[in-house]
Amino acid sequence: MGVALFTLGGTISMAGRDRLDGAALTAAIPGLETLDEPLDIHDRKPVGSGSLTFVQVLDVAESASAAVRAGAPGVVITQGTDTLEETAYLLDLIWPHEEPLVLTGAMRNPTLAGHDGPANVLAAARVAAAASTRGLGALVVFNDEIHAARWVRKTHSTSTATFVSPDTGPVGHVIEGHVRVLSAPPRPAPLPAPTATARVALHTVTLDDEPDSLAALAAGQDGLVFAGFGVGHAPAVLVPALGELAARMPVVLTSRTGAGSVLRSTYDAPGSEIDLLSRGLINGGLLHPYKARVLLKVLLGSGADHDAVSVAFAERG
Ligand code: ASP
Repeated sequence: MGVALFTLGGTISMAGRDRLDGAALTAAIPGLETLDEPLDIHDRKPVGSGSLTFVQVLDVAESASAAVRAGAPGVVITQGTDTLEETAYLLDLIWPHEEPLVLTGAMRNPTLAGHDGPANVLAAARVAAAASTRGLGALVVFNDEIHAARWVRKTHSTSTATFVSPDTGPVGHVIEGHVRVLSAPPRPAPLPAPTATARVALHTVTLDDEPDSLAALAAGQDGLVFAGFGVGHAPAVLVPALGELAARMPVVLTSRTGAGSVLRSTYDAPGSEIDLLSRGLINGGLLHPYKARVLLKVLLGSGADHDAVSVAFAERG
């Protein structure tokens, strides 16, 4: 049985007003016939990735699981790149199989010279079929690089090299059609898929920030991710509001810098990480704020309490 391919839309399928389905997309891939088995195509309604929901992604995960249980050696999902770093992490958190789940897309649509979709799909299919990627969870394959979902980021609005893993680098490469895995980051056990929708806001702190806007954003939420300055700092004026919120809901402290970790014991001033953590904020570690929000939604959506959330972030942050 071949690798299962699920198509969800995005730039990779946008041929002017037309949308390429899986058959049309794969018809234009030189070298696809060198795969051991043809792809087993499942088309979903195309949707811009900015409009994808957790429910839709979890639904694809169920179908992907069914494909693996039926014998697929791995799965490829094509989608828009805008939210791919978040959907990939969501899928990685809950994916229970040894078979890899590989996400890809394109930065140049099929009407443009140098459309990168065909090369990305072929590379993704090779990665999904490779024995060396078993157990690696959800992966993002782009530009012949293999990235772990936990670490990968979209870092450029148009470049075909937009996907990078700032903290770790790629886990491997596709070289002359061969899959080379160079490192395998640790992957904690899968979490239960959320059964309810939890509301989690993300506040990115900015210069001369206002407590009122933080409080307004957090109203009616079940949790909050706070993307602080540098190693996890907030302006002193925001500290009382953050402390009050942390007494009501999980508030996860992350860094807005995009790489590196929040600290826990280096700075001790109003709004520093020592101050914020002592007021009940949860240390998000190395998790990027977007990924921390995905993790918090998954945890709260499956009924985790405050202690369980803290334990999960200590393990995965
Ligand atoms: N806006 C598109 C989307 O995310 C961009 C892309 O596909 O790369 O669906």
